[in-house]
Amino acid sequence: MSAQIGVTGLAVMGANLARNLARNGFTVALHNRSVSRTDELLAKHGTEGDFVRTESLQELVDSLEKPRRVLIMVKAGAPVDSVVDQLVPLLEEGDIVIDAGNSHYEDTRRREAALAQKGLHFVGIGVSGGEEGALNGPSIMPGGSEESYRALGPLLEKISAHVDGKPCCAWIGTDGAGHFVKMVHNGIEYADMQVIGEAYDLLRSGAGLEPAEQAKVFSEWNKGELASFLIEITAEVLGHVDERTGKPFVDVVVDAAGQKGTGRWTVISGLELGSPVSGIAESVFARALSSKAAQRVEAQELLSGQEADISVGEDFVEDVRQALYASKLVSYAQGLDMLTGAADEYGWDLKLDEIASLWRGGCIIRAELLKEITKAYAAEQKPSNLLFAPAFTEAIAQALPAWRRVVATAVQLGIPVPVFSASLAYYDGLRRKRLPAALTQGLRDLFGAHTYQRVDTEGTFHTLWGEDQSEIAAVDSH
Ligand code: NDP
Repeated sequence: MSAQIGVTGLAVMGANLARNLARNGFTVALHNRSVSRTDELLAKHGTEGDFVRTESLQELVDSLEKPRRVLIMVKAGAPVDSVVDQLVPLLEEGDIVIDAGNSHYEDTRRREAALAQKGLHFVGIGVSGGEEGALNGPSIMPGGSEESYRALGPLLEKISAHVDGKPCCAWIGTDGAGHFVKMVHNGIEYADMQVIGEAYDLLRSGAGLEPAEQAKVFSEWNKGELASFLIEITAEVLGHVDERTGKPFVDVVVDAAGQKGTGRWTVISGLELGSPVSGIAESVFARALSSKAAQRVEAQELLSGQEADISVGEDFVEDVRQALYASKLVSYAQGLDMLTGAADEYGWDLKLDEIASLWRGGCIIRAELLKEITKAYAAEQKPSNLLFAPAFTEAIAQALPAWRRVVATAVQLGIPVPVFSASLAYYDGLRRKRLPAALTQGLRDLFGAHTYQRVDTEGTFHTLWGEDQSEIAAVDSH
């Protein structure tokens, strides 16, 4: 029996994707570096569909129909190169190598270019939804050539999550586009989680709501415009009581958040592309600060707070909800704007409506909001920034007074709200008629002759600061 697709790397993600494929009627050849994992999968789940057991990559390749589709799901980084290097000599022109792990998009671009020279397709696909999604329907972001998608799309679309009958999978763009979009998805996920954390802190330290009470608040919020997977599970985590101590679970967990790196990658790319992803950046830094355990202990001894002696009113909970919504919108706007920047840089024709649509199901940032975002980018008149879509301009205008009140109150109470406040600063920065960047340009010209442009005359200028302070036309040197 020829298999329609081969999967190599059968740890939790690979095994679940293989099972998902088999459950959807595809014959799946299985391979793992250590054969024990393959046998474990077959022993536990071998009856779920048609599997072909293989012990070597040669056997895996030989078991596949042509053009061959080999999906790699091994640890990201050097292991992917190692598996690709072993596979390439075994493959024929037109075969497709798929990397479904969390690879950096630059690695994917490099691998795609190298395999294209050998007549092979290399497809980097972003998969979101964790183990559960991989098994029952993830959100899938495939890159690579459009031609490879014709051979791969039907399988991927079948195993992906579906929302309103539509698969949460669509061809994203060439080479590393799929992994890039997955990276930005993760960046938005970081910001999404941080704004939820800030709301929790404000409700706890500002309004005095215990976790159990907050679980009810978040459940309620999950019925409205904030409805999303992350808000839903926030209610679950806040409502959870530690079985050992009987305390709220959040009170027994060490308050240092870990990270695997995709948020950091997003920020680094944002810096390189000149995309102001300040909400995502602050969420990555918030995790970094949380992990500075020793300094935090010292700071509690040494640094004064001098918080204002104010108490919050009855409307505070609703204010926080609105501030959370507005900040979340800004994070999405920043992430999507970064995609626009990357599309220009790398020559990708990214369709933001399709991307927002395939994030609606299966992935961690799935949210009601994405329906409206999809609509905004499907409109004939596409907004150049998500916040300019009429529905969101209006929504944020409504939330603005509450957003300002919450940030001001947080500052007075000494409650850190890095993403609430950075998002508000981004919003105000965007809409401000004159920014102090004019002064920055003046300073740059004075200390480094970096030149400037004038508001009233075309051209590039330099002031002779150390001489008679007259202005001369200059060659633009930035
Ligand atoms: P791991 O990242 O833990 O990787 C383990 C797998 O990689 C095993 O099959 C292992 O084989 C194989 N492997 C490691 N090194 C090599 C090598 N040099 N040569 C061949 N095989 C090797 O597995 P996960 O299932 O957790 O994740 C797989 C990928 O999916 C990663 O890129 C991860 O970032 C990504 N991902 C994970 C998610 C998750 O929730 N876990 C969610 C979304 C994406 P062996 O059994 O022989 O050791």
